[in-house]
Amino acid sequence: MSKRIKTAISGSLPKPAWLAEPEKLWAPWQLQGEALAQAKTDAMRLAVDDQLRSGITVIGDGEQTRQHFVTTFIDHLGGVDFVNRKTVRIRNRYDAEVPVVVDKVTRTRSVFVEDAKRLRALTKGPIKFTLPGPMTMIDTLYDNYYKSREKLAWAFAEILNEEAKELAAVGVDVVQFDEPAFNVFFDEVRDWGVKTLERAAQDLSCKSAVHICYGYGIEANIKWKQGLGEEWRQYEHVFPLLAKSRIDQVSLECQNSRVPMEFIEMLRGKDVLVGAIDVGTHQVETPEAVANVLRRALQYADVEHIQGCTNCGLVTMPREVATAKLRALAAGADLLSTELGLD
Ligand SMILES: [Zn+2]
Repeated sequence: MSKRIKTAISGSLPKPAWLAEPEKLWAPWQLQGEALAQAKTDAMRLAVDDQLRSGITVIGDGEQTRQHFVTTFIDHLGGVDFVNRKTVRIRNRYDAEVPVVVDKVTRTRSVFVEDAKRLRALTKGPIKFTLPGPMTMIDTLYDNYYKSREKLAWAFAEILNEEAKELAAVGVDVVQFDEPAFNVFFDEVRDWGVKTLERAAQDLSCKSAVHICYGYGIEANIKWKQGLGEEWRQYEHVFPLLAKSRIDQVSLECQNSRVPMEFIEMLRGKDVLVGAIDVGTHQVETPEAVANVLRRALQYADVEHIQGCTNCGLVTMPREVATAKLRALAAGADLLSTELGLD
């Protein structure tokens, strides 16, 4: 097996303009019914093709079938009213119209398993599939039933575990749970956040990952980051807990971030997905800039545990910018692999 440094996207890629309005979160679909279903499948093929042609080695679906990484999953569950939505403040930063929990939450059918089968058929290489994490799910809805963030998180963790096991069974190599909420609610992360995440990943036959970031490159997040000070020490609360957990991989934000790189040391032995692509700027990184971030990470992690990744999803980027960033990511990892004599 190749020892060269692997690369992956954290999750989303931009959607084609014929599928959804570009550069927008929660963009409405441009089609309906069977035409929409077909268009989503076509878009996934393009997203996979873009990654393969760019030289990315762990392939995702680019979340082409989802309007949003959290609400699309929740919309498929029982006990949730997704017609009469309510406005909530997401991670204390921006308002969004979200589904409402009105009864016990249940997974009446698979949510993404058909998508995962399609993705599996599109490449022989390793594939990663993303799911929202329990804490981020409860932060992206209105709860009118459980009235307890912890109880609802446990309920979601059980549902996520059923889904994750089905994804592994159809050949997914890595199931990643997205938990940006871990960077905000530290007491809850300590009390039940990591435990519910582990429940979601329990007895998985494939690898498990968690993605913790500072959010999409949207204005509310960029403003929030500007107020976080000279050093971003949020991961310091979370990494020691993850180090003791059964989660195999941790995806974090490094490019143009003020996260002290030495925090990676706390994750020694885990796979570290080093964010080497900034999602907050359209400026495309050079391969050298990507290699520099990965090289710095190598001071605190063994090379076989390092992967090049994006800081977060690229859904809000113009497509040509996102594709150029994918190429830079792969080229930067290649540059460093060659420098280190890996083959
Ligand atoms: Zn993210």
